[in-house]
Amino acid sequence: MPSVLDKAQSILKDTYGYKEFRPLQRDVISYAIDGNDSLVIMPTGGGKSMCFQLPALAQEGACLVISPLISLMRDQVEALKQNGVASAYLNSSLTGKEQNIIEEQFLSGEIKILYVSPEKLLTRDFFNVLKSVTLNLIAVDEAHCISQWGHDFRPEYTKLDFLKKQFPTVPIMALTATADKATRTDIASQLGIPHAKTFLASFDRPNLDLTVRAAQGRLESIIGMINRAPDESGIIYCLSRKSCEKVAEKLQAKGIDADFYHAGMPADVRNKTQERFIRDDLKVVCATIAFGMGIDKSNVRWVIHYNLPKNLESYYQEIGRAGRDGLDSKTLLFFSYADVVQLKQFMEDSPQKALLEAKLQRMQQFAEATTCRRRVLLSYFGEQLETDCGNCDVCRNPPEFMDGTILAQKALSASARTQEKVGSRLLIDILRGSGRQEIYQLGYQNIKTYGVGKEHSYFDWQHFIGQFLNLGLFEIAFDNHNILRITEHGKKALRGEVPVQITKPESVNERNQRLTPA
Ligand code: ADP
Ligand code: ZN
Repeated sequence: MPSVLDKAQSILKDTYGYKEFRPLQRDVISYAIDGNDSLVIMPTGGGKSMCFQLPALAQEGACLVISPLISLMRDQVEALKQNGVASAYLNSSLTGKEQNIIEEQFLSGEIKILYVSPEKLLTRDFFNVLKSVTLNLIAVDEAHCISQWGHDFRPEYTKLDFLKKQFPTVPIMALTATADKATRTDIASQLGIPHAKTFLASFDRPNLDLTVRAAQGRLESIIGMINRAPDESGIIYCLSRKSCEKVAEKLQAKGIDADFYHAGMPADVRNKTQERFIRDDLKVVCATIAFGMGIDKSNVRWVIHYNLPKNLESYYQEIGRAGRDGLDSKTLLFFSYADVVQLKQFMEDSPQKALLEAKLQRMQQFAEATTCRRRVLLSYFGEQLETDCGNCDVCRNPPEFMDGTILAQKALSASARTQEKVGSRLLIDILRGSGRQEIYQLGYQNIKTYGVGKEHSYFDWQHFIGQFLNLGLFEIAFDNHNILRITEHGKKALRGEVPVQITKPESVNERNQRLTPA
């Protein structure tokens, strides 16, 4: 007799028209069919829906899917219906009458997969319905919503622990694309399935080149890159609507086939831009994060971040729009402290400030990594690479280190002599002995460290200060004009108690090469 898993396999073929399971899907499906609880972590597009739909269809009874988004439910149910699967959804977009009809169908066994919103699930009426049907699986989609650590926390999701209590024999499958450890542990414990097995799909996209560069001169850099391969499609993500427009305009002025896209445009204009991009009538889109949701274009050859994303989840999702066809594609992130400062300001009034800042810090650590970037990125998603990737800028060009003790002492001492009243720009000007007016107005030309860093360029000093910030010698006072404050660790370095190892700055040659358009 064919096993239930065999049956699932033939449904995959006959109903969905796919030849085989993706590697992890088979394991997840078979584990659920055996009646076990699981936590499934797969990147977006990884094929999570199949994981609960197939056990549902291959067995007696029905599957209940808890989903937080009305639009998502509608899409999935529509797709299922097109494949001839008896499914429906229940949420506040339906009238009471419509809901009653669906509940009747569910009770009579006509529906195999029922999507519900958490609000609906928590009503007494619906609970009574649930008690009268045979469930073969409970799937909790977008399960990160359960966790305060997740990025779309939904209070109703914290009440889902009643499911395991009321239906102890029905396996629970929690699914998400967000995989940081805190969130994962939270999901399992809050659902009352602490022993659930975790299935973690690889988040690696080896065909994507990961490169990070300092933001200075980024526009020239971008123009150079586009001109070297003018026929390739790419997306430039910018932080603000205004910068999307500005960047697009500057590219157009250089004869580049570019346009912009953001949520502030009329919907029809926006859709047209998207259409043109998808049809290859437009090569370059300068966009806010609003762009890319649900667009399926396989030949995007590069994704550039003009500004720093707010966390690694967003970064991963956005670079993921490149190279869906599996061919080599470039991703390039421009990093500046100014962006960190601005993002922090956005987070200032959020009730989740501490969490958002911690995530931003991880983003920053990625941008400043001196080890294989793919390792840093994947480890954030709980995955360890066996070897360095060879397809990131750090692997290709491992940074050279130098002793930065004296440089750090110069900078720390100059800052101390201003009573820690200056930001990095003014500090660099003091160190380089700049004659600009502000220095004289404040009398900084008289301090002992004025001009002691003359032998290094402004760019070098920016790099050094960045390194000192990384190493925690300085911190930025975001609440006070972004001035630099000396930390306890910085004081030790100033007294010569700890050595300071930093990476070498880019040489003038390297810089010129990078900025010269082809
Ligand atoms: P997720 O929910 O993880 O973002 P989906 O479940 O929407 O991903 O699946 C992404 C795409 O992959 C869908 O178009 C789906 O039909 C397709 N897919 C899923 N499993 C398979 C498979 N075994 N073979 C081929 N395509 C698949
Ligand atoms: Zn690498």
